[in-house]
Amino acid sequence: MPNIQCLPSHVADLIAAGEVVERPASVVKELLENAIDAGATAIVVEVERGGLTYLRITDNGCGIAPGELPTAFLRHATSKLRTAQDLAAIGTLGFRGEALAAISAVSHVDIFSRQKESDVGAMLHLDGGVAGEVTETGCPEGTTICIRDLFYNTPARMKFMKKDSAEGAAVHGIVQHVALSHPQISFKLIRDGSEVLYTPGDGKLLSAVYAAMGRDFALGLVEVKGCGGDIAVEGYVTRPLNGHGTRGKQVLFVNGRFVKSQLLTAALEEAYRNRLMKGKFPGCVLHVTLPPDMVDVNVHPAKTVVKFVSDKPVFDAVYYTVRSALDAAEKPAEQEKPKENFYRTMTVQQYRETAAEEKKPLGSYSRPATSQPAAPVRPAPTYSAPPVRPVTTTTYASKPVEKPPLSGEIRDVVRQAGETFTVPGRTEDGRQVTYEITPPAVEKAAPVAEVPTAAVEKAAEVSKTAEKVAEQTTMELPETEQKVLQSAPAPWRMVGEVLKTYIICEDDKENVWLIDKHAAHERVRFDALKANPQPLMAQTLLEPLAVTLAAEEYSAVLEHTETLRHFGFDCEDFGDGTVLVREIPADILTGDAAATLEELAKKLLEQRADPAGARDELLHTMACKSAIKAGMNTSPAELAALVEKVQAGEIAYCPHGRPVAVKLTKYEIEKMFKRA
Ligand code: ADP
Ligand code: MG
Repeated sequence: MPNIQCLPSHVADLIAAGEVVERPASVVKELLENAIDAGATAIVVEVERGGLTYLRITDNGCGIAPGELPTAFLRHATSKLRTAQDLAAIGTLGFRGEALAAISAVSHVDIFSRQKESDVGAMLHLDGGVAGEVTETGCPEGTTICIRDLFYNTPARMKFMKKDSAEGAAVHGIVQHVALSHPQISFKLIRDGSEVLYTPGDGKLLSAVYAAMGRDFALGLVEVKGCGGDIAVEGYVTRPLNGHGTRGKQVLFVNGRFVKSQLLTAALEEAYRNRLMKGKFPGCVLHVTLPPDMVDVNVHPAKTVVKFVSDKPVFDAVYYTVRSALDAAEKPAEQEKPKENFYRTMTVQQYRETAAEEKKPLGSYSRPATSQPAAPVRPAPTYSAPPVRPVTTTTYASKPVEKPPLSGEIRDVVRQAGETFTVPGRTEDGRQVTYEITPPAVEKAAPVAEVPTAAVEKAAEVSKTAEKVAEQTTMELPETEQKVLQSAPAPWRMVGEVLKTYIICEDDKENVWLIDKHAAHERVRFDALKANPQPLMAQTLLEPLAVTLAAEEYSAVLEHTETLRHFGFDCEDFGDGTVLVREIPADILTGDAAATLEELAKKLLEQRADPAGARDELLHTMACKSAIKAGMNTSPAELAALVEKVQAGEIAYCPHGRPVAVKLTKYEIEKMFKRA
C-alpha cells in the first residue's frame, strides 16, 4: 500500500461537492435556500438544458458586501453561525457554509450582488472554485448567481445525469415544493426560455397551490385546518370526487420541509375511507407543524425521509383533521359552521371519541334478547323531505390591481376558499400583473320556517307547493322580503327517468342533472345503516334456505354467526359446506339472500385483520343489496325523494366513491349543439 497523505484541497473540495451537489436540482435547492435566508421576497430561477449548461438565480435579498464575496465561496464560510451554541437555535435553512464552495468547485460561476444601502454592486467570477478579482459593477439590489457547465471537471458525475428533460423536471419539482412552503415569497421558474411557474407571493397558500399545481387541482380542494395537541395540520386536500390516478399529487411538509412519509400518506388516505373510488388517490398540500423535539433530528436535512419520535399522535392529528374537513364539506353549505369555529369547539380528542362510536369493532355487537318482529318483505322506504334551507345572498366583488378580466374559474376558487387571494396573470400587451380577488360579502337572511318533514308520497307535492307559495308571495310581500324568497333555492324539477336507471332533473340555474338512482339510494341506505348501531331488522323465512358455500366461506360463516345475526342473517351448520338460513335481512329479496350471504362471507375473510373496516365493508354489501336497482321499476315519489337528497347536498357519491349525480350546464349542452 502507498504512503498515507493529506489530499490536496481542490480534490477534497471535489469530493465534498459530490455530497452536496448531486444534480442541478440540488444546486437549485441550495441557492433557493440561500436567497430565502437572505430575506428575498421575489426569486427568479432560469435553467437551460435541465440546468446542466446554464442555471441562474436572482433574488432581491440583503445582498453580500463586495469584500465578502470571495469568502462566501470558501468551505465552512457562513454568516449564519458563529459559535457551537448557535447550532442549537438555528433559524436559517443553511448553516454548514458548504453549498457555494461545493457548487463553485464543479462549475463556472458568476456572482453579482448589491447590498440595500450601497449605490453600487460587485461581481466575481470563479472557475472550478478558483476565484478571480472582485470588480465594481452596476446591478440590482440583491444577488444574482449564474452557474455554467455544471460538472465540467467531473466527467464521472456527469455520466450519472439523466436526460435534460428529467433534470429539468427535477428542478421544477424543487421550485414547486419550495414555493408551496413559502407562499409569502414570489417564485418564478423559466425553463429553456418559457415561464413554467409563477407564484404571486401574497402569503396565501391557495394562491401558491393554484400557481404551482395548476388550476384543475386547485379547483377541486377542501381546506383543512386543525390540530391535535402540539401538532398542527393545515392546507388543502382533494374533494373525494376529484381523486387522482396516482399518489403523485400528495405534497407533504413537516415543519416547512418537503417530506415523503408512509405514515402521513396512510393517515391521509384513511380519512377518505368510503369516499373515494377504488384505484383513486387523494391529492394534498399539507403542512404538519410540530415541536422540533417530536421529530427525529438525526435524519439528514437534505433528504426527504422524516421520522417522528412517536407516530400515533401524528397519524391521529392528520387523520382526524382531514376527516372532519371532509365531513364538514359534505354537509350542505348552509348548515356548515365556519371552519374556525368547528375546530375551536371540537378537539381531536373529542372528535376521536365521536368517531370511535361509529367504528365499533365487530365483536361488540349484541343481539337484543327480544326477537325483532317480522317486517314486510320489502318495506316502503321512509324518506323525508329536506327542510327548507336558510336563504343566503352572496355577492362577489373583484378588484383587479391593474385590469379586471376576472374569469369564472378564478371566482370559483374564491368561492371554494372563501378568502382573498391573488393570481398572477398577463395583460394583453404581455405585461405581468397580479389580480387581487376580494372576498365575497355574505349576508345571511333569517331562516325561513322549516317545512315539516313529510313521508315519501308528500315529497313530490312539497316541491310543487313551494313553487306556488313562492309565486304568490312575490306578488304580495314588500320588496325586501321578496328578495329573500326569490333567492331561496327552488326545488329541482324532475323531468323523468331514462334507461330505468338515471333520473333527469333541471335546477333553477339552468343546469341539467343526471342522477344514478341505484348509487344515490345505496348511499342513503349506507348512511342510515351506519348511523344505526342496532341489529338490522330480520324476516323469518317460511322455509329455511340451504346455502352451499366454498370451504373457506363456509367456515367464515360458522365462525361469525353472531356478527351475521347482527346483519339480519340467522344461519346454522347443516354439514358438508352447507348452512341453513332461517332469517334474512328484512329489506333484502329472498332471491338475493344466498348471494348476499356469500358476499358477506368473502368480506369477513378479506377483512380478518381489520374488524372496524369489516363493518363498513359489510354495510356496503347490505346497502348495495337493499337499494333500488338499475333496471327496476321505481315509483316517481321514490325518485323525487332521492332528488331532494341530492339537491340538499346530503349525498354526493356512493359508498364505493362513484358519483351519484352528474351536472351538465346549459353552456355545455349548447356547446354540444354548436350553439355556443
Ligand atoms: P450557508 O448557507 O450554509 O451559510 P453557503 O455556502 O450556502 O453556506 O453560503 C455562504 C454564505 O454566503 C452565507 O452564509 C451567506 O452569508 C452568503 N450568501 C449566500 N447566498 C446568498 C444570497 N443569495 N444573498 C445573500 N447572502 C448570501
Ligand atoms: Mg446555503
